[in-house]
Amino acid sequence: MTAVAVIDAVLSIDLAAVVANWRRLAAVHGAPCAGVVKADGYGLGAVPVGRALAGAGCGHFFVAHLAEGLALRAALGPGAMVAVLNGFAAGADGDAGLTPVLNSLADVAAHQGRPGILQLDTGMARLGVPPEEWGLLDGLAPLLLMTHLAVADQPEHPLNAMQAGRFAAARARFPGVPASLAASSGIFLGPDFASDLARPGAALYGLNPTPGRPNPMLPVVRLDAPVVQLREIPAGTPVGYGAAWVAERPSRVATVAAGYADGYLRALSGRAIASFQGQPVPLIGRVSMDLTTFDVTDLPGLRAGDALTLIGPGGGGGCTPDEVAERAGTIGYEILTSLGARYRRQYQQA
Ligand SMILES: *Cc1c(COP(=O)(O)O)cnc(C)c1O
Repeated sequence: MTAVAVIDAVLSIDLAAVVANWRRLAAVHGAPCAGVVKADGYGLGAVPVGRALAGAGCGHFFVAHLAEGLALRAALGPGAMVAVLNGFAAGADGDAGLTPVLNSLADVAAHQGRPGILQLDTGMARLGVPPEEWGLLDGLAPLLLMTHLAVADQPEHPLNAMQAGRFAAARARFPGVPASLAASSGIFLGPDFASDLARPGAALYGLNPTPGRPNPMLPVVRLDAPVVQLREIPAGTPVGYGAAWVAERPSRVATVAAGYADGYLRALSGRAIASFQGQPVPLIGRVSMDLTTFDVTDLPGLRAGDALTLIGPGGGGGCTPDEVAERAGTIGYEILTSLGARYRRQYQQA
């Protein structure tokens, strides 16, 4: 009855698919793409992803924090540009040769005489120099001019065209300076959003940059969690914390080794679908810290030690990162960046 499987959940990351996605995005954009690898490469490993992309010819990387930039530079060696989106104090990168993103007039002043990327705010009011201060930037020669779109995942939203228009006006003030506008979703907005360098993150990792339409990207991530225990329970038996699920029929319950401490969000309680050999497997009861329960009554072939796919490429079960996110009431970005440290990570090399 009881089987103890001393195995971890396995997070498989297909680096060849990341590289193929990067190439596909550049083809759609009609210009090179950087690799955005902030937040440890959206939870998938900034260093392995960075190495795979650099090996394929990617010459520009974006991280958010100085420490992320230093770690990536140490792994990649000299060569590719490693830019820090949140910026950093002048000299704080030592000899690492990181590129600061200058997000304000104060940043520009602090990095006087040193090349940086100039971020302009064209309608997001988050980071970047706002339009009313652009007149104070005359004479500056940044390495790259960039802005970020607020609603690129909603192609019909009027703010997209407004931001593109403001950015075009800004570019006219910096003749000869290359420009970067689109991230993942912006790449699919058409020629008005073209620039010299796109900055995709999410789409590299297989998230759908065109929500509501078929996903043009290859899947990258797969999470298989082993069944630690299988139980046969009579009708009327409650399962898990809060007795939140009660068997309506004699049932077979699989308990797998992954929970909210692994980033399998508690909000998925009673809502997620996993898959086993292409068959959908409903999550029952509450997700707990280290364990999650599934109804496998209709899967008589399942054995303890088999793995359920909690996140996978789709085609049965409905557990792509975007689908899991929807069931948790969030976005795929949060599913990926929440992926826990306890998974055994397995990389398929590019
Ligand atoms: C995170 C980020 C990106 C990448 O966005 P995706 O939607 O993941 O492609 C690009 N540019 C900036 C400024 C960002 O903060």
